[in-house]
Amino acid sequence: MKDAPTVYLDHAATTPMTDVAIEALTARLREVGNASSLHASGRRARRIVEESRETIAQALNCRPGEVVFTSGGTEADNLAVKGLHWSRRATDPRRLRFLASAVEHHAVLDPLEWLEEHEGAAVNLLPVDSLGRLSVDALRAAVELEPASVAAITVMWANNEVGTLQPIDEVVALAAEHGIPVHTDAVQAIGSVPVDFAASGVDALSVSGHKVGGPQGVGALVVRREVDLTALLHGGGQERDVRSGTLDVPAIAGFAAAVELAVKQQADHAARLTVLRDRLVVAVRREVPDVVLNGDLDNRLPGNVHLGFPGCEGDSLLMLLDARGIECSTGSACSAGVPQPSHVLLAMGRNPEDARSSLRFSLGHTSTDADIEAVAAAIAPCVERARAARA
Ligand code: PLP
Repeated sequence: MKDAPTVYLDHAATTPMTDVAIEALTARLREVGNASSLHASGRRARRIVEESRETIAQALNCRPGEVVFTSGGTEADNLAVKGLHWSRRATDPRRLRFLASAVEHHAVLDPLEWLEEHEGAAVNLLPVDSLGRLSVDALRAAVELEPASVAAITVMWANNEVGTLQPIDEVVALAAEHGIPVHTDAVQAIGSVPVDFAASGVDALSVSGHKVGGPQGVGALVVRREVDLTALLHGGGQERDVRSGTLDVPAIAGFAAAVELAVKQQADHAARLTVLRDRLVVAVRREVPDVVLNGDLDNRLPGNVHLGFPGCEGDSLLMLLDARGIECSTGSACSAGVPQPSHVLLAMGRNPEDARSSLRFSLGHTSTDADIEAVAAAIAPCVERARAARA
């Protein structure tokens, strides 16, 4: 008997590379050249990097010089958070407070925690409502407590677990009243919702290649030229001296091709995924009537469905679905495996048991109606077995 095809519903963890990205990357694999070398091969590599930078700048509406290539979203977030902490503290030692939403990705939360433990930062995590949306009033109160002591604010554009979009406009407007820099982790947002760096008014924005159909291990921090960032990596002085290290030319070429396509197709992609997502919710509700939909249905990433299955352990449900070829996640892939309830759901006011009963299905460019039908066929028996296992 032939194995059934895998039903891949974990695009928020990583999404397959698009053909244009594979072509752009593989075309460069046989070419030699360090983009910092002065000879012809080096100059050719440099040209590819600079063309890629321009492509990304056009797609995100920033200046090419504002794109700092990194090894992915995690490094971009670390560079923004630590780089801002150190540079702001250097100009004024009172600026030790870093304000962040409580639902940030660990790539933001963990560097903040590290800064608190080792570098004298004071981190204020700000509450979200039951849909996962930042309380702008709480942010305002935290800023107004003592504006001069705030180093920076970081609020993600879209949450990776429950898909909720954050009020970035309001965050930027508030920060601007006090001249406080704003970083946003837009790793999940690019290609799913419109993201315009210049119009957004943020000072720094993280992007990751493998969430938009590009390769893993490459990304960028888009950062306004006026913003001073202390480097994390020291060496050859690449990337404005902010991020030393020989540039990965093939990966950067693939990344740029992926970003360009993802942004060009964003509106169509979002419309298609919204239809599929709504079908998935209807289908699961039909099969498991007491399922709980987490997050904000109106104000959310088009490909995200986050569901609570009362009486189930999310991990066992995930494995039961996996045994039937259906791949999803219990939350952020980066913290999966750690048997703790999601900090995002806890921040949304869920109790630990409810938080552990949830699964994230995330749709992407290869998702089809057949994927939805496969989940509809498998979900009720899997939920029944997961409930029996806990009883
Ligand atoms: N930020 C968010 C919101 C993410 O979802 C992820 C990946 O799961 C990251 C950052 C980390 O990005 P990368 O995997 O490129 O290091």
